[in-house]
Amino acid sequence: MRIFDPHIHMTSRTTDDYARMAAAGIRSVVEPAFWLGQPRTGPGSFTDYFDSLIGWEPYRAAQFGVVHHATIALNPKEANDPRCRPVLDLLPRYLDKGRVVAVGEIGYDSMTPEEDDAFERQLALAVEHDLPALVHTPHRDKARGTRRTLEVVAASGIAPERVTVDHLNEVTVGMVRESGCWMGFSIYPETKMSPPRMVEILREYGLDRMLVNSAADWGVSDPLLTLETGKAMLAAGFTDDDVDRVLWRNPVEFYSQSGRLDLTGAGAGEPTFAGSSVKRGGS
Ligand SMILES: [Zn+2]
Repeated sequence: MRIFDPHIHMTSRTTDDYARMAAAGIRSVVEPAFWLGQPRTGPGSFTDYFDSLIGWEPYRAAQFGVVHHATIALNPKEANDPRCRPVLDLLPRYLDKGRVVAVGEIGYDSMTPEEDDAFERQLALAVEHDLPALVHTPHRDKARGTRRTLEVVAASGIAPERVTVDHLNEVTVGMVRESGCWMGFSIYPETKMSPPRMVEILREYGLDRMLVNSAADWGVSDPLLTLETGKAMLAAGFTDDDVDRVLWRNPVEFYSQSGRLDLTGAGAGEPTFAGSSVKRGGS
């Protein structure tokens, strides 16, 4: 099984995770810029993080044969902090970088006017820079948040096939499918979505525009739940080709719209990590 995780926060994960992921067939990842748990106090903290997402993290991933790309944005939660908002003015220079394949994660956390403004401005940046957009949906009041999200996306003028609306569930999948946007599902150990529920959704709604991710980060999460979803699909009677489509070809198709997806070296390092620790740049 070859796997592309279209949404995972590797900054928060260890080299053990990279080794397990490579051994499980995960050859490519996209890491969206998001909040780090601890609130940031200024734009410099963001730019160091963005530099790490397009510099250090791809270097670390490559040592395990995992190709790493990033999406860059001011996340919805920190869009509410006046100390962080100036980062919006710094985004254009990052959106021109080669390893950046979308604007994201953008969207709503608490649906405040500040979030409205940051969401609209960043969708406009996606259009301007000819990039897809990765849109997070709120965990509270999900149906209302997703409906509002789709209205803002439609009003922005970005083509729906260039947008993924993420963290969906049984309640929100139908409206996103109808909108023409891609549908993202974060498979979590305890909340959000499980492999068996995901299989049911794929049965009901088909495989078109479907993306499955682990969204693994600094909380309770598991980078191998994409693999578990593939196994659950096979056990439920889906074919190897169906699994390949959902776990590899769909994310490749979505992010290829950036014109920047470069999968050279994907899977190349699968056996070579054994027994070696990550190289430390310059030390
Ligand atoms: Zn995320």
